[in-house]
Amino acid sequence: MNMVPAIAHGALLLLFASPFAQGESLLGFPDAREQLEREAEYRAALSAEDQQSWSKTLTAQPHHAGSEYGRFNAEFIAERFLDWGYDVEVEVFDILLPVPLKRHLSLESPTRYTAVLMEDVVAGDVSTEDRDEVLPPYNAFSVDGDVTAELVFVNYGIPEDYELLERYGIDVTGKIVIAKYGKSWRGIKPKLAAEKGAIGTIIYSDPADDGFSRGDVYPEGAFKNASGVQRGSVMDMPLYPGDVLTPGKPAIKGTRRLSRNKAPTITRIPVLPISYKDAQPLLRALGGEVVPLEWQGALPLTYHLGPGPARVRLALEFDWQRITIRNVIARLEGSAYPEEWVLRGNHHDGWNHGAADPISGMVALLDEARAVALLAKAGERPKRTIVYAAWDAEEPGLIGSTEWVEKHIDQLQKQAVAYINTDGNSRGFASIGGSHTLEPFFNELLRSITDPQTDVSLDERLRARIRVAGTDEQRDELKERGDHRISPLGSGSDYTPFLQHAGIASANLGFGGEGMGGSYHTLYDTFEHFSRFRDPGFRYGVALADLAGTATLRLANAEVLPFRFGGLAENLQHYLGELQKLADDARAEALRINGMLDAGDYALALDPTKALTAPPAKKAVPHFNFAPLENALSELTEVAQSLDATLADSDPANPGELNRRLYLSERALTSPDGLPGRDWYRHQVYAPGFYTGYGVKTLPRVREAIEAEHYDEVDEEIGYTAEVLTRFAAYLDETVGLIGE
Ligand SMILES: [Zn+2]
Repeated sequence: MNMVPAIAHGALLLLFASPFAQGESLLGFPDAREQLEREAEYRAALSAEDQQSWSKTLTAQPHHAGSEYGRFNAEFIAERFLDWGYDVEVEVFDILLPVPLKRHLSLESPTRYTAVLMEDVVAGDVSTEDRDEVLPPYNAFSVDGDVTAELVFVNYGIPEDYELLERYGIDVTGKIVIAKYGKSWRGIKPKLAAEKGAIGTIIYSDPADDGFSRGDVYPEGAFKNASGVQRGSVMDMPLYPGDVLTPGKPAIKGTRRLSRNKAPTITRIPVLPISYKDAQPLLRALGGEVVPLEWQGALPLTYHLGPGPARVRLALEFDWQRITIRNVIARLEGSAYPEEWVLRGNHHDGWNHGAADPISGMVALLDEARAVALLAKAGERPKRTIVYAAWDAEEPGLIGSTEWVEKHIDQLQKQAVAYINTDGNSRGFASIGGSHTLEPFFNELLRSITDPQTDVSLDERLRARIRVAGTDEQRDELKERGDHRISPLGSGSDYTPFLQHAGIASANLGFGGEGMGGSYHTLYDTFEHFSRFRDPGFRYGVALADLAGTATLRLANAEVLPFRFGGLAENLQHYLGELQKLADDARAEALRINGMLDAGDYALALDPTKALTAPPAKKAVPHFNFAPLENALSELTEVAQSLDATLADSDPANPGELNRRLYLSERALTSPDGLPGRDWYRHQVYAPGFYTGYGVKTLPRVREAIEAEHYDEVDEEIGYTAEVLTRFAAYLDETVGLIGE
């Protein structure tokens, strides 16, 4: 048994959080012994050897959505679940998925170069040899197009990069931009470029970010070699994910589909990803001003902004095919509360062989599902129904999971307790993102699970890292707070439809930080690469199955579901503080810049022989009225603490109704209006950023109004969000009342 002994991490922890301080106790289990025995049995059944052998099978051929091998994998996964005793259904959807017919990129003048757009076969990795089924490098949901124009270098292509370009007097209207991968989700780059008037986007991976500057390149080392290209979707997921033609509705017979030219999540301009080998001649041909120092990459040339004299032609044509995708859904009916569902998923489609992304997470899920089934056979059937899902078409835009949630939304909103997601995995530290109502629950798990390399708990290993390499703020929090903050979720994997559309408490679990790589979404995400560099021996695969499976089993068996609310209230206070600081900083910055402009400082400080000019005057930032949010949060904090205290010492007579209220609590943080301009996103606490993509925006209505300088809307959004939180506090208050009865 791998239980971790009681260790005092700080005063708060001792008082409120340490589960082992008074004998063995677990959130939600009046008597934890039985559950801990069950977990020990579960853990003993996990197998690195089997994960490795499943990985070999599932990564033997490219298995993107719609491919032959993708279908084979779905069937292979379904058969395993069937063998283990699950009720299995393969749910299909018909979705739009473009694949490239023509990809052309050339430098037309002042010199000529035609981009190769192909990745090299590498010695020692047989997976890179057979090209029949390989998807060539492309960005899914780029529009067709054939454009020729001058080139402009836009660094990472994020809003602040365009602000600086404007100060250089560079307008990208009618130009083709070349941007580095990184700093934002890739779909933001063509979206922003199009808004700025560009007619095409090229994205490349600079070796400074994940190539030779970071370490030896593949096959000598893990990092990106000169021919490697990151594929990926560029659909406008911050608007809505899933099938581009059926927003908010399942892509099944009978659903009305948009015509393709009306689908708002397809890019407006053509976009193509390339290698640094192909980027180098284009960048070398750029003239104009030398880039600011922070924009310089690692290629052996001086980077220039352009525009021109480099002129490039970008010509793309796609087969806009309708394909069938296959979600594998496996159920194990609960023994006591079959109508309450604990959901657990990982996608099975990859861009090519997909050994890290997604198969490393998929085989951990399979290992988990088998061990849970063994428990059930031995008479330890979980109390709640567990639903395992292997999603298809995650890579092109979270399509399989989104369509499934849209199809089953009514039932899910009534019955789903929580959704636990995994995706790619590698060696290193536990990383947990999720709903703050599950923060104490996940902290307890971090203390329960052992790190395979160091034999201490995941929690202790995280603490040691913060002490060694954390910021001052993290170190202070470690001492004062007790629990680790679990990070709020933006987007980037299949939890999005569950959390942000359906309002189901969710988490995303994984390990990382030590498994090096530049293989993400390239031809080199192979079994060979993965087992050399990312998780040799699949030890962290077993750790992931341990972490996610223990979470699933605890949620499935708890007498009282382990939701707690004080941590949520405290995190919301923290976010409110961030918003106030955001507004204060913006105000101070506007005053500072406008003051310097008035004084004529830029004219004196900037080199008059260079193109960089003064920034434009800033909009003055008014003082906002945060009082409604402050009041709502004071109330919420009080009610949340009182509910947590009641939950801690009650053994409720009627856990059924209480549990229902606990798991429905996340729904109360959503609103049917959704967010401004994107009503698919209903959660009012967590959303992916409209201009960052994967990056989370907490309290998004207020935060994005300030960031977008829509200052006249801020007070209204504060009021809206405060109302949601006040309703939520009332909901918790009624729940306290229920336990008291
Ligand atoms: Zn993935």
